[in-house]
Amino acid sequence: MSEFSIINKYFTESTKARADIVLGIGDDCAIFRPCADFEYLISVDAFLEKVHFPSCTSPEDVGYKALAVSLSDVAAMGGDPIWVTMALAMPQQNEAWLAGFSQAFVELAEDYNVQLIGGDTTRGPLGVVVQIAGQVPVGRAITRCGASPGDIIYVTGVIGEAGLGLKIINNEVSVENEWSQALLRRLNRPEPRVRLGSALRGVASAAIDISDGLLQDLQHILDKSHVGAIIHVHQIPISIHYQNILDTLGGWQVPLSSGDDYELCFTIPPENQWEIESLAVKAGCALTRIGEITRERNLVCLSSEGQVLPMTKSGFDHFQTKN
Ligand code: ADP
Ligand code: MG
Repeated sequence: MSEFSIINKYFTESTKARADIVLGIGDDCAIFRPCADFEYLISVDAFLEKVHFPSCTSPEDVGYKALAVSLSDVAAMGGDPIWVTMALAMPQQNEAWLAGFSQAFVELAEDYNVQLIGGDTTRGPLGVVVQIAGQVPVGRAITRCGASPGDIIYVTGVIGEAGLGLKIINNEVSVENEWSQALLRRLNRPEPRVRLGSALRGVASAAIDISDGLLQDLQHILDKSHVGAIIHVHQIPISIHYQNILDTLGGWQVPLSSGDDYELCFTIPPENQWEIESLAVKAGCALTRIGEITRERNLVCLSSEGQVLPMTKSGFDHFQTKN
């Protein structure tokens, strides 16, 4: 198959057309017609074999997750995703791989009314680069800068399970089969919190998605907002199964610094807290209060007895973390 027949077969007209896309795949550029009352969120992420996903990952999971992590970035800014472009490199053409990859990618795009409007297809080490655009009404994006002392810190879903899934793949942990499957799903199929993200507009003061570890990602909000935080570790939402093995894994440090969850961490001014229940319904997932923003600019983790728990690692860093 030639490069052009691959594009035609797997990536052309494969996502539903949106009214704001004047021209999609097939020319030198796509044409997008922006709307005057909106601002546009733009982000790009690489998703590379052996860096972001292990070689055993199925093509469907690669296609799904490459897009899901980009949707998560738009969600973290309170945006509605609109379009994506995608540059794909693979060592040799492999139709079965392409079919699985493109089907999962396109299905997820359609679920969120996102159109694939262009890209690039080359030979090279297996990897995908996805660029995404989202929109918000002018001035309504949620950034990392808006947290104030007294704001309450929340997270979506449960924390740490994707990281545990990676430990299972790396044979660092073994758990019973059914849970193991669920953990691998948490690693490979994160649910981007897009509906919650747009519902947080005008309610949350700051937000971020948890890609590198809760402590590290929360620290980005604290740095940008010039504030600190207290986290009550016993309030961190982890599953019962996880609680049962927490001590053997190394304690709270582990879920608090493990990446790939793609849950949202956000702050709410106390006067907006009454909205939390309706937000949880809209989000379709649990929202858990885990701490408060403070004036003192440090991040303190407290045990249920009120003791300060020292944390030596806060998250993943491509150039510092040893695998
Ligand atoms: P050019 O040489 O002008 O960059 P290409 O031959 O690379 O164009 O691509 C032809 C068309 O197919 C372009 O519209 C491009 O955006 C699109 N395209 C190529 N690869 C992909 C892909 N993986 N996903 C989506 N669109 C793609
Ligand atoms: Mg090209």
